[in-house]
Amino acid sequence: KTFKDLGIVDPLVEACHKLGYKHPTPIQAQSIPLALQDRDLIGLAETGSGKTAAFVLPILQALLEKSSPSPFFGLIMAPTRELAAQIGQAVDGLGASIGVKCAVIVGGLDMVPQSIALSKKPHIVVATPGRLLDHLEKTKGFKLTNTKYLVIDEADRLLDMDFGPILDKLLKFLPRERRTFLFSATMSSKVESLQRASLRDPLRVSI
Ligand code: AMP
Repeated sequence: KTFKDLGIVDPLVEACHKLGYKHPTPIQAQSIPLALQDRDLIGLAETGSGKTAAFVLPILQALLEKSSPSPFFGLIMAPTRELAAQIGQAVDGLGASIGVKCAVIVGGLDMVPQSIALSKKPHIVVATPGRLLDHLEKTKGFKLTNTKYLVIDEADRLLDMDFGPILDKLLKFLPRERRTFLFSATMSSKVESLQRASLRDPLRVSI
């Protein structure tokens, strides 16, 4: 199968080829057609499987379909700074050629440059939970009321790091009318309860 067979549009197929992605990985082949059909997804997949592009490509494609792409269209939550930075690079790598702007918002760095980045209204925000909540409470004009896609990446690690209560708070800032993709390497009762709180009638994919 090719990315085109999965329903990915030409500009994004080209972006994949530029990054050296010739064929979809198994998690991409399973997730992308479902995500493009406007369904919530639970993906059981580990780092290295190509899961990042599995959730980034459908969000970019949804952005491309809009005549006026809205700010804060997609929010991607990750457990660590390193992972958030890697996801940000993937969004830039796949999205820069179609004009997608992305901001990475993580703890341990000065808040001011991040507030400035958010004031430029990026289409996609990749964030660690604590710092995102700080900005929602402190950065003027920063809202997630128009967010259409939420990704919870490495849900098991997020919960192991005790981000559960912060994720619950963050969910209150997001509209109920949205798509949600949850990825996790493992399933646990904690992941199940986060899943029930954040996804609607999800489909499951696993590799
Ligand atoms: P991930 O699991 O998302 O962290 O991706 C693992 C690595 O695989 C990253 O370096 C990606 O750039 C790369 N990758 C993702 N999708 C593909 C693909 N379809 N073909 C080749 N490499 C890929």
